[in-house]
Amino acid sequence: MHENRSRRYGIMGGTFNPVHNGHLVTAEEARTQFDLDKVIFIPTGIPSHKVTDETPTPEDRYIMAVIATASNPDFIVSRIEVEKAKPTYTIDTLKELSEIYEGSEFYFITGADAVWEILNWKDPESLSKYCTFIGATRPGYSLEKFKESHLLPDEDRTDPKVPKVRIMEIPALAISSTDIRNRVGTGHTIRYLVPEGVLNYIYKSGFYEKN
Ligand code: NAP
Repeated sequence: MHENRSRRYGIMGGTFNPVHNGHLVTAEEARTQFDLDKVIFIPTGIPSHKVTDETPTPEDRYIMAVIATASNPDFIVSRIEVEKAKPTYTIDTLKELSEIYEGSEFYFITGADAVWEILNWKDPESLSKYCTFIGATRPGYSLEKFKESHLLPDEDRTDPKVPKVRIMEIPALAISSTDIRNRVGTGHTIRYLVPEGVLNYIYKSGFYEKN
């Protein structure tokens, strides 16, 4: 516990369909690099930006996140988005969290490709008031497009309305949810790509078998 600074929360936003070991490594790396007190996983409910299959349901994705993080006391899973019956937007989630955890600092952690789109999200100018973004990349990811858009922090970044973005390269993100769904659909193993409890939950529920 740090006595002389406000609490810092990592907000791990994603569909998590399913959550995998790359996500866990990302959250742990962000926790240590940015000196975060806790990382809160927030599985999306009905995402505003894409159509999703009926299964796994948001509740299933939430359960898999709980199973994956159960052994880590610094990881929490929130129902804030899965409980909403309508599409959710990150700005609304951040506003709610800033009321729940008043006086805290937030670091919104997600995939760099998602972060790259933030200028198209709802109310992008307000996002920068609530958090710093951490974009997690797979090795070899090109940052050129970020530099051109001035999303990366540098000495010339004077406009407070441009969201603050930090980039973190995570070799374990060679694992992807898409690949896991495809592997299950084609009968390939996913052992060691997801936590064992998540693997059991996927097989028991028959998720992704028809992909
Ligand atoms: P996505 O488009 O499914 O994922 C984009 C890339 O990022 C994928 O390669 C994905 O890999 C990776 N990724 C996603 N979450 C990650 C995480 N927490 N850590 C590391 N890599 C991650 O993105 P999404 O999951 O639907 O959305 C990401 C977040 O952005 C969500 O919290 C969503 O609500 C938010 N978002 C908000 C708005 C808005 O407010 N208008 C619009 C778009 C997205 P995997 O598939 O392996 O995870």
